[in-house]
Amino acid sequence: MSFGTLNWALTLTTLAVIQAGLMLVVLLCASLSSLRLLKFSCLLILLGNALALYFMDTYGVVLDRDMMGNVFNTNAREAMETLHPRLLLYMAVFLVLPGILIVELNIQKISLLKHALGIAATLFFATTWLYANASNWLWIDKHAKQLGALMLPWSYVVNTVRHFDQQAAKNRQQILLPPAQFHPPAPMNNKRIVVLVIGEAARAKNFSHYGYGRNTNAYTQSGLLAVMQNTRSCATYTTQSLACMLSHQGASVSTQHNYETLPSYLHRHGVSVIWRSNNWGEPSMKTTLYEKLEDIQKNCPPQECANHGFDEILLHGLVQKISASDNTRFLIVLHQTGSHGPAYHTKYPPEFERFKPVCRSVQLSDCSNESIVNAYDNTIVYTDYILSRLITLLQELKNSSSVMMYVSDHGESLGEYGLYLHGTPNSIAPDVQRDIPFLVWMSKNFQQERGLGNNTVQRGTAHSHDHIFHSVMGALGVRSAIYKADLDVFHP
Ligand SMILES: [Zn+2]
Repeated sequence: MSFGTLNWALTLTTLAVIQAGLMLVVLLCASLSSLRLLKFSCLLILLGNALALYFMDTYGVVLDRDMMGNVFNTNAREAMETLHPRLLLYMAVFLVLPGILIVELNIQKISLLKHALGIAATLFFATTWLYANASNWLWIDKHAKQLGALMLPWSYVVNTVRHFDQQAAKNRQQILLPPAQFHPPAPMNNKRIVVLVIGEAARAKNFSHYGYGRNTNAYTQSGLLAVMQNTRSCATYTTQSLACMLSHQGASVSTQHNYETLPSYLHRHGVSVIWRSNNWGEPSMKTTLYEKLEDIQKNCPPQECANHGFDEILLHGLVQKISASDNTRFLIVLHQTGSHGPAYHTKYPPEFERFKPVCRSVQLSDCSNESIVNAYDNTIVYTDYILSRLITLLQELKNSSSVMMYVSDHGESLGEYGLYLHGTPNSIAPDVQRDIPFLVWMSKNFQQERGLGNNTVQRGTAHSHDHIFHSVMGALGVRSAIYKADLDVFHP
């Protein structure tokens, strides 16, 4: 977005409306209890703002969650070292002067009705303004983290709460899941492998497997895969979706109980768990090996990894890792960057640009809808290619029976109802943000062992992220008191 344009001015105004609206509602609520409390709140905010401005100006710090963590972990000596006589100037200008004004101000008590009307009018005006300027959301959403850390007093208030919430979550004792048995035991010298590919922002609507008019699934021809019908994501954003698909509680996962996640559970029971990530937002877990994109890149010579930054690198050296291990059970999770917007055109190598022209701006409202969809569809083609390569790799593995499950974390809006990207609250999220692809491939050995075919596996009429935990257990032959057969797509 360029400075000085109308769009820029509107975005700034939208931010000001959010800021002022929130402040007005908070102060109106504070004044409900007493006018003293109102004045006290104002003074407290002035003090916080003056300190925050001093640190932001002097040290260029951004008051995000990590920074608030630093603030609370600083000792007195360190804190003293950061103070400069200039702080007195900030206190005079931003605390003392406006503070005197507030203390001296003669505020009249107003009726409850006027309070309610004031709050309602503020909310109405702010909501109307936000909806009228929905095209700015994308930019605001993309920079929400940075903006949130700059807006006073919300930056330090919200991020202080977030910091302590994070600490509390870390300190909450993990609850172990009940002991598990393997059934049936794996045949001698036979490796049982489950690969879970977690897609990013891929929506079912744009897969030919789900009836899309374009051929976006040319690499995984029909018949190769079981196509699970009507799969709903539990959320519209990555962290929550991952939390539910890796929890035995599924969509009802709560932050109150820190239960062991699927990778930790299986790892504790001797399964070799390898997690490779070209994304983020994963819950805390124990694995046998955890590799970020950079870790894989380090061990990949340039001639072998031409398509370095793309998802394909998640497959590099995978077969060798499985072959080199003495273990007989593997869970491999590949967490893609997939179709993460808004820069869809950066998510696939140039040779996968099947649909043209493509949008090359992160300001999606600057692009034609056709070019946005083209770029997005190319990301699906590329994901389809990766799945087909993965299947080929698994087919080549000797003495093994394997399963590949591909599921997206959530869907994506591509301009329908004026919405882009994802993250709309579940209650009002359009179907495209929640209808996700869920595809399953089984090796010949696995199909014979279990007496299963694609038709039996895809017979269910409705699926969700709740199926992931129990289907992984099912595929690996893990049984325990928390296992639910009705959520296991491999249960005969
Ligand atoms: Zn996501």
